Amino acid sequence: MKVYLDNAATTRMDPDVVSFIRPFFEDVFGNPASIHCYGREAMKHVEEARSNLANCINASENEIVFTSGGTESDNLAILGIARSLKHKGKHIITSKIEHPAVLEACKQLEKEGYNVTYLPVSRDGVVNVDRLNETIRKETILVSIMHVNNETGSIQPIEEIGKVCRDNDVLFHTDAVQSFGKLNIDVKRMNIDLLSASAHKFHGPKGIGMLYVRDGLYLHPIMYGGHHEMGLRPGTLNVPGILGMMKAAEIAYKELDKTHAHIKRLSKKVVDGILGSIPESYLNSPSPTDVDEGRDNRYTRWYPGVVNIRFSFIEGESLMLLLDKEGIACSTGSACASGSLEPSHVLLAMGLRPEQAHGSLRFSMSRFTSIDEIDYLLEKLPACVERLRKISPFKNAEALDRFIRKHHQRYKT
Ligand SMILES: *Cc1c(COP(=O)(O)O)cnc(C)c1O
Repeated sequence: MKVYLDNAATTRMDPDVVSFIRPFFEDVFGNPASIHCYGREAMKHVEEARSNLANCINASENEIVFTSGGTESDNLAILGIARSLKHKGKHIITSKIEHPAVLEACKQLEKEGYNVTYLPVSRDGVVNVDRLNETIRKETILVSIMHVNNETGSIQPIEEIGKVCRDNDVLFHTDAVQSFGKLNIDVKRMNIDLLSASAHKFHGPKGIGMLYVRDGLYLHPIMYGGHHEMGLRPGTLNVPGILGMMKAAEIAYKELDKTHAHIKRLSKKVVDGILGSIPESYLNSPSPTDVDEGRDNRYTRWYPGVVNIRFSFIEGESLMLLLDKEGIACSTGSACASGSLEPSHVLLAMGLRPEQAHGSLRFSMSRFTSIDEIDYLLEKLPACVERLRKISPFKNAEALDRFIRKHHQRYKT
């Protein structure tokens, strides 16, 4: 049996999306920038997609810029705003748990003479809004805080953050790559000025994303070329990708409640099943017992499609590989962190010790995940954990920590 529980890394394309975009490879192949009928036909579909996608977040079509994905959208938002507002100030606020696309863009700005504040998070992985308010100063030009965290599923209070930013006359960007298509988003109600989304995280194609830019905002482009996308993003439009993102968003929002109920059920099963059968396993994601369930039967601080669990005395990478042998695909936190021995920056920011972060796994589900797949995980996982603990030279956390530190040194030098 093959079980895919790494939907926060990427999702399979919905078969309906695949069949929907086929004609855009074969028949409607014109360049939307061309003024002949092939081009006009392609442009007509692109503009329909722009309008539909804008509607998903209560924006207008002139506020949507198509990009190559979440990484580019984050970079365009942060670098673009920073460079266009540098006369106003050079201070940016973000959090310690952002995706590398945001963190690395901020690091680049630091090299260019900007100041960046990285806000801490609570044990549950949530940014404190009062702390944000106190951190804003006269030179602050931009706040970038993600909506749903990709490693733990924690939901940031972006509506409150948006309000604080608007009250202080500071722009607010949110990386909504893990929430677009999964939670309701209203850029007006939430006072969002810029928002990143990426199709492959909600069953659309890879290599296509969008950036919402509130009407009237000016940002510097990060690439130079033709005059596409209001001069903000040159390059021939990815027509099949754009239409695929539109279709995927349409399905996602139509099925939102049904999908959410399904994922919540799977998530409960994963959490109860693992914590109930494996000693010394703990939930890193915000615990559903700690949070009040929202009015519409949603958790208010946790998107349950991302379950992050730690296992004492175990090295997550080894457990992930053992599960892989059983046909189960999951992840040790962020895909970018895998392959390096760096413990997850998100889990460390939540106050976990390095050895706890190293012993953590992420199981992420989608509407294509079945109860049978979860049953299979729960059948295989306990033996894998036990096997690793048996051969583990780490009878305690300190020994594991020592091992990892030593290993770390070796890899670094
Ligand atoms: C996946 C992801 C990204 C990057 O998106 P790509 O389309 O893969 O470049 C950015 N932010 C978050 C939160 C993500 O989960």
